[in-house]
Amino acid sequence: RSKPTAAPATTAGAPDAVRLTHPERSVFPADGITKQHVADYYAAVAPLLLAEIAGRPLSVLRCPDGIASTCFFQKHAGKGWGDRVHAVKVREKNASKDYLAVDDATGLLQLVQMNVIEFHPWGAQADDQEHADRIVFDLDPDASVPWREVKAAARTVRDVLDGVGLRAFLRTSGGKGLHLVVPLAPPAAWAQAKRFAQDLAVTLAAERPETFVSVAGKSKRKGRIFIDWLRNSRGATSVASYSLRARPGAPVAMPLEWNELARLRGGDAYTIATALQKIRRRKSDPWRALYGLRQSLPGTPRRSR
Ligand code: ATP
Ligand code: MN
Ligand code: MN
Repeated sequence: RSKPTAAPATTAGAPDAVRLTHPERSVFPADGITKQHVADYYAAVAPLLLAEIAGRPLSVLRCPDGIASTCFFQKHAGKGWGDRVHAVKVREKNASKDYLAVDDATGLLQLVQMNVIEFHPWGAQADDQEHADRIVFDLDPDASVPWREVKAAARTVRDVLDGVGLRAFLRTSGGKGLHLVVPLAPPAAWAQAKRFAQDLAVTLAAERPETFVSVAGKSKRKGRIFIDWLRNSRGATSVASYSLRARPGAPVAMPLEWNELARLRGGDAYTIATALQKIRRRKSDPWRALYGLRQSLPGTPRRSR
């Protein structure tokens, strides 16, 4: 398998094998960001992004005419996308379908050539699709929730996870909220991962109904934070760390140290304009301990691989 076992230390290394058509095409029109800018960004973060997506079934958000026009999610591989864009077989209801996957920077840039802006991996490896190797708690605040309360909520969820022996890693979503990512090694059956995530969300919402809700409906969310545990089922995705978001300002989903949360200004605090400087200035990868960490869900029998 080609899954990296450690996050790469450098962000250098643009592959030369991908020819970019229409490099001058505007992708984020309000921000003056072109397809070339997007490709340069992804070439620069390729090793870091690949640590998050390589070997996983992948959904991508494509914006052929830029983010101000129609964008669409795609999970099945298209014809002629490039020799490094792979098809992986995924069992669906009745048949097995070819899903997208990439393993290297060339494949990544072949997707960028196909006007991919966002990368959304499964929480599972393509060669072990029935088991989650990551759980994601996606904190979705109602617009009225003050940002400091969103940050406090992330610490609360972190502490609950700590209490059951699970270390969680933090990232901005690039949108309105925060994600907590819990690696599982060995991986857990999807049914167990989902039940754990749901139980945690339901319990927290019962204990702190003024802060949290565990149901997706907009009406119950008023003034509260939805703990979106629904990211944790087979076939569900979450945005990848280092992915751009197809939103004004070209925000980036950015992994952070927990001690950076106090100063964080919002889920969209990092953008294509600031992410690379942030990455170069930090002392080390804030998720370095995630790769290779061994931890399992409480109460689940260990599964040998
Ligand atoms: P925000 O912080 O603004 O909520 P987010 O990335 O967490 O940003 P959500 O709407 O909470 O956005 O969605 C969580 C994840 O669910 C997305 O990152 C994406 O992977 C997946 N998702 C959401 N909508 C779709 C969709 N229409 N098709 C496929 N996947 C989706
Ligand atoms: Mn969210
Ligand atoms: Mn959500």
